[in-house]
Amino acid sequence: AQRTLVLIKPDAVARGLVGSVLARYESKGLRVVALEMRQIDADQSDAHYADHVARDFYPGLRDFITSGPLVALVLEGDEAIEAVRHLNGATDGRKAAPGTIRGDWSLSNQRNLVHGSDSPESAAREISLWFPDVAAG
Ligand code: ATP
Repeated sequence: AQRTLVLIKPDAVARGLVGSVLARYESKGLRVVALEMRQIDADQSDAHYADHVARDFYPGLRDFITSGPLVALVLEGDEAIEAVRHLNGATDGRKAAPGTIRGDWSLSNQRNLVHGSDSPESAAREISLWFPDVAAG
């Protein structure tokens, strides 16, 4: 089985959607391998979003992701990386399909509730960053 790193972002925590979001993943059949609530600082944001730090939207994204507690988790299952990205929906909540987490509950390109690793390489990097004691899969 494959593992992936998921963040339930500060907007979802603030809106009381942690349980609803987690239920989507668990109902699909993905298994929670690790889970922790945390508030990260700017350096940790830069490490997680290493590919995005030079983008014009990154300062706003960093302010958002460090603005309050989030829930980090590792999920495991068959094709977990792609399965999570399908459940999450398109990046922009305004365009994400109904039935997806973002499509049902987000109307924003930035405050889009969740993050999921986008490749096996990203998953390995992100799992070791967030959960150094958990095997990448
Ligand atoms: P994630 O990596 O979080 O699962 P994604 O792969 O769908 O999302 P990316 O393009 O990797 O999206 O962007 C990472 C995150 O940066 C997005 O989830 C969103 O919060 C934020 N973001 C992306 N594009 C924009 C934008 N144009 N304006 C503001 N924030 C953005």
